[in-house]
Amino acid sequence: MDGWRGEVVVRPDRDIISKYQARRLRDGSRLQALKSRNTGRTTTLDGVRVEVGANLEAPSEVAGALELGAESVGLFRTELLYLDRPELPSEEEQFQDAVAVLQALGGRQATFRTLDIGGEKLPLAVAIRGGSNPSLGMRAIRFAFRHPDIFRTQLRALYRASAAGPLRILFPLVSGVSELDEARRACASVVDELAREGVTFDREVPIGLMIETPSAALTTDHLAQGSSFFSIGTNDLIQYAFAADRENEDVAYLYHPLHPAFLRLLKGAIDGAKAADRPISVCGDMAGDPAFTWILLGLGVRSLSMAPRSIPAVKSVIAGSRRDEMEDLVAKALALRSEIEVEELVLGFMRRRFPLELAGADDM
Ligand code: PEP
Ligand code: MG
Repeated sequence: MDGWRGEVVVRPDRDIISKYQARRLRDGSRLQALKSRNTGRTTTLDGVRVEVGANLEAPSEVAGALELGAESVGLFRTELLYLDRPELPSEEEQFQDAVAVLQALGGRQATFRTLDIGGEKLPLAVAIRGGSNPSLGMRAIRFAFRHPDIFRTQLRALYRASAAGPLRILFPLVSGVSELDEARRACASVVDELAREGVTFDREVPIGLMIETPSAALTTDHLAQGSSFFSIGTNDLIQYAFAADRENEDVAYLYHPLHPAFLRLLKGAIDGAKAADRPISVCGDMAGDPAFTWILLGLGVRSLSMAPRSIPAVKSVIAGSRRDEMEDLVAKALALRSEIEVEELVLGFMRRRFPLELAGADDM
C-alpha cells in the first residue's frame, strides 16, 4: 500500500517489491537525518519562534509524537472513542483518556477538540440523519447542540481532566458568533455544575474555535471576543471554500491550498485574529506539508499542528528560513491570479530550496 500516492499494488512483482523496499530505506534514513537536526523548540534563522504540535487521536500516540519533536498536542481528535462501538463512551472513560494524554505530555499543553462526528465520521451509537449533503448537515458542533447530553458529558470529562495539566477546549465547525455563544453557555453551565459538586478543575480553561467555514474565516475579528485562540482546519475550510467534497476524488482537482481565493481567505482570518491579539494556528493537512510552511508563516501563523511524522521536515524548513524571505514569497503569491501560477512559484521554489524536506510523494 503506497500511502504517499494513495495506491494499492495488487500482487506486486519482484521488481516492484524491491523498488518499495529501497524506498522504505530511503524514507527511513531521510526521517532520521531530519529528526537529528531539530528536536527542541523551533525558531527561524532570525529568531521567530514557531510552535510545532502534533495531531493525535489516542493517548498511546503521545510518546511517539514527542520522540519526533512535538512540543504540544495542537489537535486531539476525540472521535475515536465514539466510533466503531455500539455504545457511547462514559464521562469517566473520556476523563481517563484526556488525563492519560496530559500525563504522557508531562506538563506540555494539549488542545482537545470536542466531538466532530457526522459527515464522514459516523458513530454506531447514535443515528444521524445524513440528509442529501451530509458534510453540510448535522455534524460537529451542530451535532453537539442537537445532543446536549452527549456534549455535556464530554465537557464535564474535559473540565475535570484540566486538573491534570494544561488543557484547552476547541470547538469544531463553528459558523459564527451565535454558535460560539451557545457553546460557551454549555461550558459555563458545566463549570457551575462542577463547582457546586466541589470538583477540582481549572475554571479558566481556554476555549477556542476551529476555523473551518468561510463564515468563521471572514469573522475572526468578531469571534475573537469570545475565543481565546483559533485553529484553522484547512481540510474542511478548503472543502467549503471551493464547494468540493473532500472525500470525492472526482472533484479532488478543485482542492488547492495555494489557490488565490484560499490565500485571501487565510490572510483575512489570520489578520483578523492578529488585530484582536488572538493566537491562530493551522492544524489541517496543509500545516504538515513542508511545501506550504513559508506561505503559512509568511502570512503570520506562528503555530502549526500536524501528523507526528511530518514534524521533522517542517521543523527543518522553519529552522532554515528567515521571516523577510517568507513574507516576500507570500507577497509574490498574493499577486498571482491562478492556482497554477502560485503552485509553480511556491512548489518550484520550495523544492529547490529544501530538497531533503520535500522529498516524498514523487520520489519513486
Ligand atoms: C480540518 O478540517 O482541517 C481538520 C483538522 O479537521 P478534520 O480533518 O478532523 O476534519
Ligand atoms: Mg475538520
